Amino acid sequence: MIRAKYAIALTGAGISTESGIPDFRGPSGIWTKNPQAERRAYQSYEELLSDPKKWWEQRLSGPSLLGDLEKAKPNAGHYALVELETMELLKCVITQNVDGLHEKAGSVNLIEYHGSALKLRCVDCGLRSKRGEFDLERLRTEGALPPRCPKCRGVVKTDGVSFGEPIPNDVAQRSLQEARKCDLILICGTSAVVYPFADLPRIARQRKDGPPKTVIIEVNTDATPLTEEKVSDYLVRGNTGEILPRLVETIRRIRES
Ligand SMILES: [Zn+2]
Repeated sequence: MIRAKYAIALTGAGISTESGIPDFRGPSGIWTKNPQAERRAYQSYEELLSDPKKWWEQRLSGPSLLGDLEKAKPNAGHYALVELETMELLKCVITQNVDGLHEKAGSVNLIEYHGSALKLRCVDCGLRSKRGEFDLERLRTEGALPPRCPKCRGVVKTDGVSFGEPIPNDVAQRSLQEARKCDLILICGTSAVVYPFADLPRIARQRKDGPPKTVIIEVNTDATPLTEEKVSDYLVRGNTGEILPRLVETIRRIRES
């Protein structure tokens, strides 16, 4: 890690479970407990495109699947990644999480690969806004849904990428650049099985030009397909909330000695 010239981190649900954010496919995951919600989610993007007003009315009528994200707090794992970035060891965090916790913790060069549940995004021009910039409740009572983009008047949806929705172009391009550039990947709390995110470590691994072979370190509670397929070089078994702060400590000690 210390010798890496361009280290990046890829994170997933595992880094947020310690902040009380439920994952989707774990034993008590959102989809595991509510397969009907999963089936609905698969149709969500098409429904948005065909009837954005209805899509928004449905969203605003039920409780959020992820609970009250606005109040969720980052944990030691998120802060450890911020420290690594401050130490100039980590150049970028690419997360699959939509909970906004990396941003809250203070990560600067951050790519929210699947968007953020705390933001909204224009379907046409891709402009992102904070959720609070729209008075969704008023739009609903006035029958004025969907919210419209302040720049191009396009339909605005939640920034979180829906099933069937392509990864926004800016995010996909930046992530590819990072994967091609890095010489070390720290994989934190994800088995990286959801594509196209799952391509990133594999692209970094197979890259033939550029810097020497990318070293891939997993911090996961259990072995994953990345371990089994030997995409990763090392598996550090444990919770990111414990392992990552220890990593920061160790690096600090080495640097001071
Ligand atoms: Zn727009």
